[in-house]
Amino acid sequence: MDRRNHILHGYAPEPICDAHIHIKMQMPVNATNYVIGELMEHFNYERALICSLPIYDRTDNYRNFYLKSKLAPKIYTAVGLDHHFDARDTAEYYLHQIKQYHKMGCDGVKMFEGKVLLHRKLGKKLCDPAFDLFYSYCEEHQIPITLHLGDPLDHWDITKMNDYALKNGWYCGPEDPTREDLREEIDQVLQKFPKLPLIFAHFNYMGDELDRAAKMMNTYPNICFDLTPGGEMFIAFTEHWDAARAFFAKYQDRILYGTDSYNWRPKDVTLEEQNGKRVNLVRRFLEETEVFTESTMNTPFKPFGFSGEILDKIYRKNFIRLFGETPRPLNHALIAEGAKALLAEKDENLTPLMTENLYTIIDHFEK
Ligand SMILES: [Zn+2]
Repeated sequence: MDRRNHILHGYAPEPICDAHIHIKMQMPVNATNYVIGELMEHFNYERALICSLPIYDRTDNYRNFYLKSKLAPKIYTAVGLDHHFDARDTAEYYLHQIKQYHKMGCDGVKMFEGKVLLHRKLGKKLCDPAFDLFYSYCEEHQIPITLHLGDPLDHWDITKMNDYALKNGWYCGPEDPTREDLREEIDQVLQKFPKLPLIFAHFNYMGDELDRAAKMMNTYPNICFDLTPGGEMFIAFTEHWDAARAFFAKYQDRILYGTDSYNWRPKDVTLEEQNGKRVNLVRRFLEETEVFTESTMNTPFKPFGFSGEILDKIYRKNFIRLFGETPRPLNHALIAEGAKALLAEKDENLTPLMTENLYTIIDHFEK
């Protein structure tokens, strides 16, 4: 019996695209590939964009290329910028990186630099001139950037934070930029680079600011929003159901399905249990017609009940328009060279597992 997710839950049968997946868990690269392959199958994915987070693992971009190569043509790669967190992080360094990654065959960029944790560590605003050449290159070549901007508002109030968020260092203190500060920074970027194809992850935490979100959409024709949970946006959509549904209808060409699923499947836990929560929250909200509750959140959601063309755009067509019918070709020699250069740095932050993974990757791309 077919126990795949869409059959279990009675979702639309057509294969879909996930624009927001990570491979942040540390494991041998071939194990990552196996889990992601299983995930693609179980959730009926025909395409997925994997978003690198090199702040946690400097080999992430190369693991991402390896996955893309092994699971071709289903996987698309969004690279992350590498930082030294010192004077070496110049505009020229960032430009050099994006040019190299683009030649290697990346399909997009993941910017985690708007997350307060990384923003703080960098000590740079998103509108810092150090990023200008990079933005300009992405605008010129229309390389989509998936941007994580800010955090849920609770992260600025230590009394409202859950243990998980606290433990991960996501508390935003009085020294940190506020959410408005971050929005101001990105507004300056967009004023300078108005055609930049920015995809705001997590609906840019604007579920209850639909007028403002619409204004952004109208001002900058190349920006998009993704639906990756935080569940808070779906609570807000439920509260302002008519306005939210109208927003989706109006901007249906600029909204992308995403989940934050990742390469982790503990023993004895099914994929449905591990990654199903996020997938089901988004899919149920888009497709179902009756009010529902999710086990982890005790608030009722009133779903949109979409079908047909609008659903196809959010699930598939918008992804293909942005990232292409097939992923960009990989330059094997250049990827091997880049991975070797990283190895040669002998960075003490690279664990034995990361090093081992780099050897596997180099071996693959040198063949
Ligand atoms: Zn994410």
